[in-house]
Amino acid sequence: MKSLVNKNILRVQPYVPGKPIEEVQRELGLKEVIKLASNENPFGPSPKVLKAISLESRHLNRYPDGQCFYLRLQLAKRLKVKPTQLIFGNGSDEIIVLAIRAFVEAGDEVVIARPSFLIYEIAAQIAGATIQDVPLKNFRYDLETMSGRITPKTKIIFIGNPDNPAGTYVTHNQLVGFLENIRRDILVFIDEAYYEFVGDNDYPNTLKLLKEYRNLIVTRTFSKMYGLAGLRLGYGIADEEIIDCLNRVREPFNVNSLAQVAALACLKDQKYYRRIVKLLKEQKKFLYSRLSKLGLSFKESATNFILIEFKQKAEAITQALLKKGVIVRDMSPWGLENFIRVTIGTSKENKRFIEVLKEVL
Ligand SMILES: *Cc1c(COP(=O)(O)O)cnc(C)c1O
Repeated sequence: MKSLVNKNILRVQPYVPGKPIEEVQRELGLKEVIKLASNENPFGPSPKVLKAISLESRHLNRYPDGQCFYLRLQLAKRLKVKPTQLIFGNGSDEIIVLAIRAFVEAGDEVVIARPSFLIYEIAAQIAGATIQDVPLKNFRYDLETMSGRITPKTKIIFIGNPDNPAGTYVTHNQLVGFLENIRRDILVFIDEAYYEFVGDNDYPNTLKLLKEYRNLIVTRTFSKMYGLAGLRLGYGIADEEIIDCLNRVREPFNVNSLAQVAALACLKDQKYYRRIVKLLKEQKKFLYSRLSKLGLSFKESATNFILIEFKQKAEAITQALLKKGVIVRDMSPWGLENFIRVTIGTSKENKRFIEVLKEVL
């Protein structure tokens, strides 16, 4: 069958996600397993969100609202943008795929950083695009080199901000300097999946920039801080013209009805989520201090995950941790042979991670 297949997909390495807890329990016969591998919120949705989901579940015989009417209105109000400047996706992953589908033809070029979020590259490969990848410099975007890679064929530049796995971000001034220097007919895709975790003053205010730079799209998600990874809901904010293009390639019922009501309830329960952000920040400090005590080097992160460097191969460490019921991410598929990425968990989970890590080392 491989001879029949769209040739572009033969270049694609299938995405390998973090292992689900149940799979590790099943395969290793372990009872107590903790997952710190996919940058999920360890606390789960708020009680109000669970109630909204339960009420909505009575109507699961119906198709969802293809326009996400109520969520759209509420989010537009919160973000101070027009409702028509929003697009919703089955996770913000889908917005990446829609942008490629709408703007990139075979032979076009896409600029990304390396290592970066893998979906940018996978989606571009499927479309038959040529990928211009620019290595990070000291785990930060090298925007100067990235703008130097622009050619007349460039369609999209992806900026994960903060990016995964590095955990660092491009500052407001750096971003403006970059945008000033590039053609306005290139889509600049700013992925803010970790937006809610970044508290720093020099983090870009991209919604403000949207007014001046009509070639921007900003995406955010309910998967990370809002803890709805399992329901799949992300959104994009851009000029109406860009949104119109994306809507043409979007499937009519791409966002399910439970996700829509859950997200709406999340927005109305900010108190619950602000507390989680605060707790995770404290836990990040805890992990930094314990990792330092273990003599390990790590990257300070603006997100809910940390990259940790070892003097040995990360694969062996990941496997050893797994056997003791701690799932983390081996970063060798990203070319970071000696790194693991660990998501900040609850206090109990983080203590367990540090204990098990000590045993393993
Ligand atoms: C997790 C993540 C996403 C998207 O997740 P969705 O669940 O599809 O919304 C997007 N970008 C980055 C950099 C991520 O780490």
